[in-house]
Amino acid sequence: MTGLSDTIAAIATAPGSAGVGIVRVSGPAALRVADAVFAGRSRPSRTPGGRFLYGAFRSGSGDSIDEGLCLIFRGPHSYTGEDVAELQSHGSPAVLARLLERVLEVGARAARPGEFTLRAYLGGRLDLTQAEAVLSLVNAQTDAARRQATLGLSGAIAARVSVVAEAVTRTLAAIQAMLDYPDEGVPEEERGEPLLRAEAELAGLLGTARAGQIATRGARLALLGRPNAGKSSLLNALLGYERSIVTPIAGTTRDYLEAQLELAGVPITLVDTAGLRETADEIEAAGVRQAQLLGQNADLVLLLEDGSAAREPLDIASDAPTLRIQTKIDLGQRWQAPGFLLVSAVTGAGLPELREAVRAALLGNQTRGEAWLTTERQADAARRALMHIAAARHLPDDLAGYELEQALGALAELTGRDVQEDVVDAVFRNFCVGK
Ligand code: GDP
Ligand code: ZN
Repeated sequence: MTGLSDTIAAIATAPGSAGVGIVRVSGPAALRVADAVFAGRSRPSRTPGGRFLYGAFRSGSGDSIDEGLCLIFRGPHSYTGEDVAELQSHGSPAVLARLLERVLEVGARAARPGEFTLRAYLGGRLDLTQAEAVLSLVNAQTDAARRQATLGLSGAIAARVSVVAEAVTRTLAAIQAMLDYPDEGVPEEERGEPLLRAEAELAGLLGTARAGQIATRGARLALLGRPNAGKSSLLNALLGYERSIVTPIAGTTRDYLEAQLELAGVPITLVDTAGLRETADEIEAAGVRQAQLLGQNADLVLLLEDGSAAREPLDIASDAPTLRIQTKIDLGQRWQAPGFLLVSAVTGAGLPELREAVRAALLGNQTRGEAWLTTERQADAARRALMHIAAARHLPDDLAGYELEQALGALAELTGRDVQEDVVDAVFRNFCVGK
């Protein structure tokens, strides 16, 4: 893992032109680096933290690169916990490239993706769920994603985990105390009941994982059905409703269509099979194959059947939850079957109910203001902890103690208090440079 002895720098603002751009420098030499690059009323290294200076950024030969501000943060009162200088120039790619180059010339090293946040984590300023929340917040495209990220960043996930960890720790202590008096055994109120509560709490938290991941990364919805079932029409109706854009995407084997929309604050990618309109006999086979493929990669399948024609059920094997939809109900229902949502792309009938069914299928009945697990890494650790706690409830004290230690280990992994280096690397690999 990275040492803390060196000073890192990166452009912290997005590529392209903007009013303001920022080069961020963090590490023991951050303010000396700023001294070498920036000429203002006083030296950054002589300026107290929490202040800023106005001045010029200078090249090695003394020419001005640009004018701007130098913000000074002194560790531990900074994002990384180290000394930090933020150099704010005009947000032009040329200025920022030159400014970063200059900062590297005078001794900083180019930061790796997520390295500023990694330092905040290593310095104990953020736990791993908060670091993941930073990533989600930077990437948040919708309000639901932003809300979950903000909760995560506030430490709300870790707070829910610590309730569980405390109950487990208390029970473990009771068990360990009793191991010296094997005849007695741990009384039920110190073992069974707290563990049952810890298990319920953790199960509740784990139950938020699907909604949390979907709110954070969005969901893929596959529209499946026979040719003419009304897939494209429904896609257009949903989009018209949402006023969004359709982009044709060339698939590897044949074309399909992806459209983006937002539903209940969740970024949704609707996938429709296109280019299957040919009249060849192979339509059936090709359609089903493609549908099956799309269905496998979807978070939710919308399976459409034409309600205005004689029923030819289409069964598609998919692990994804499925909503069954009878289409074209404005033409009258030729058949009836239980469990179908009735819609008309032409009149818009049933679309609000469909939207609500999609929302429920994706987010369930999770409470909005609560912190949800937002990554598979978190869910996996929670799942393992739950397994060990459940096992402990039915085991004799000594074996239960072992299971509870394992559970605590998994909970510590969840928050990143005790975690393998490769797991940490995997988390930060997803960051952009400069965060
Ligand atoms: P796809 O092959 O499954 O994508 O089906 P399309 O969306 O292309 O629709 C096939 C045909 O059914 C087209 O002629 C549509 O105009 C028609 N259609 C689709 N949805 C409806 C509907 O809700 N009501 C009516 N009356 N016609 C529809
Ligand atoms: Zn179509």
